[in-house]
Amino acid sequence: MNKIVTLAGDGIGPEIMAAGLSVLKAASKNTTFTYEIDPRDFGGIAIDHFGNPLPEETLNAAKQADAILLAAIGHPKYNNAPVRPEQGLLALRKALGLYANVRPLKIHKKLQNLSPIRNVENVDFVVIRELTGGIYFGKHELNADNAIDINEYSADEIRRIIRFAFETARGRDKRVTSVDKQNVLATSKLWHKIADEIAQEYPDVQLEHQLVDSCAMLLITHPQKFDVIVTENLFGDILTDEASSLAGTLGVMPSSSHGDQGVSLYEPIHGSAPDIEGKGIANPVSMVLSIAMMLRESFHEIALAERIENAVEQAFSKDIFTQDLGGKATTAEMTAAIIDHL
Ligand code: ATP
Ligand code: MG
Repeated sequence: MNKIVTLAGDGIGPEIMAAGLSVLKAASKNTTFTYEIDPRDFGGIAIDHFGNPLPEETLNAAKQADAILLAAIGHPKYNNAPVRPEQGLLALRKALGLYANVRPLKIHKKLQNLSPIRNVENVDFVVIRELTGGIYFGKHELNADNAIDINEYSADEIRRIIRFAFETARGRDKRVTSVDKQNVLATSKLWHKIADEIAQEYPDVQLEHQLVDSCAMLLITHPQKFDVIVTENLFGDILTDEASSLAGTLGVMPSSSHGDQGVSLYEPIHGSAPDIEGKGIANPVSMVLSIAMMLRESFHEIALAERIENAVEQAFSKDIFTQDLGGKATTAEMTAAIIDHL
């Protein structure tokens, strides 16, 4: 029995989690994939119940899970609170050693006109962002007359994320774009050299290097040229936001995060959308596709994952869209349409 810890969280989190789990239940019915759900408090709701966004019992359950599903956390009501929901997410990532953040971007034909970019036909790439090293975790010093941020990467930290990218590319179109700023930064020089070294271990995968500035441009002008993009924490933060804008909505975008302790976490890339909380109009697709990623990446249930992804495509093909996509379907209607097409 596969154990899935669910963290529904705040805002629209519980609404899209319930929608996603109903799709999982329908899809796995009469298959050999069996699972049990262990729902836990996390984020703002956990602050309300435990005074802590990541209660000990949630962390222990997460550590023992086979996979973790997170919907969304955060709410404006905690903006001036002494402890914020987001601190729970940072603590959870750290405790689970989640060093690789994966964000696929594929734009359904019916959604292409939502993109602010004209030509997004056949866009299909994934950005892999290093999540636990680099400048966000280096020393920060703020003085009156100067300020310092240290960007540090060990060779081992770089090796594992680059390897992760090559492994991912093997399951895709076998092309890796390694993104750095090696004309200026020492960390990038090391990154570049290690990417070349790892490439020797993967003769079947093609490696290309891009400077981060030119990559930022190419993401808009030639998004079709990419298959797997791998980059450090800071560059990845910026490039993943840029990449997600290509889709024109956040409501369809899933992600996964993988660590060195065996358990992975799956979540939509968007936040808790407090502006539409409780209205029953949230787009459940980001959660449904996060569940498909979980089935593929943690449980190797490829056929089941594809069935769910195809059902989403089919629902879109029948012009069933939630409001963020210009449609009228409610969360419940969108979810029912996906289940109908399983
Ligand atoms: P965070 O800081 O937590 O990332 P944010 O300020 O970036 O939050 P989001 O919660 O991601 O904001 O929402 C941004 C906008 O996208 C909001 O208008 C929200 O309603 C909309 N949105 C996000 N997710 C969805 C969804 N699943 N369905 C419909 N609309 C969504
Ligand atoms: Mg955001």
